[in-house]
Amino acid sequence: MDCVFCKIVAGEIPGAKVYETDEVLAFLDINPVHPGHTLVIPKKHYANIEEAPAEVLSQVISAVKKVGLALKIGLNYQGYNVTENNDPAAGQLIAHLHFHVIPRFEGDGLKLWPQRQYSAGELEATAEKLKKVL
Ligand code: AMP
Ligand code: ZN
Repeated sequence: MDCVFCKIVAGEIPGAKVYETDEVLAFLDINPVHPGHTLVIPKKHYANIEEAPAEVLSQVISAVKKVGLALKIGLNYQGYNVTENNDPAAGQLIAHLHFHVIPRFEGDGLKLWPQRQYSAGELEATAEKLKKVL
């Protein structure tokens, strides 16, 4: 399969690996928001969060937690965002499940997404539709 992240797992292309277990790999994003911006992936290829079994997700999130703490104690950041762009419509460019751990500090100027307000009845109707399929 022609997947950049599978190639990093296999050692076929370089990656700045910072943490790994049998199932999970964490390496630096080559174009960081701030230095230390890390990607955490399952070593096995899953396109997105829905494809990955719960046990794998559990191990990936445990690694995310470790990386987040390392950003604070090792690089002196004050916080971090955990982001997973799920599917191309959500900005996913590489079709191998990955969680971004983005280090943050007070006043770093990074803006998250804009938010809107619901129109009358829209919140309730939306919740009902979701509940039916959950
Ligand atoms: P996404 O939009 O969530 O699919 O993000 C893909 C991320 O992978 C981007 O932030 C890229 O900078 C990063 N990226 C792409 N190629 C590499 C690579 N070879 N090594 C490390 N990070 C990469
Ligand atoms: Zn892959």
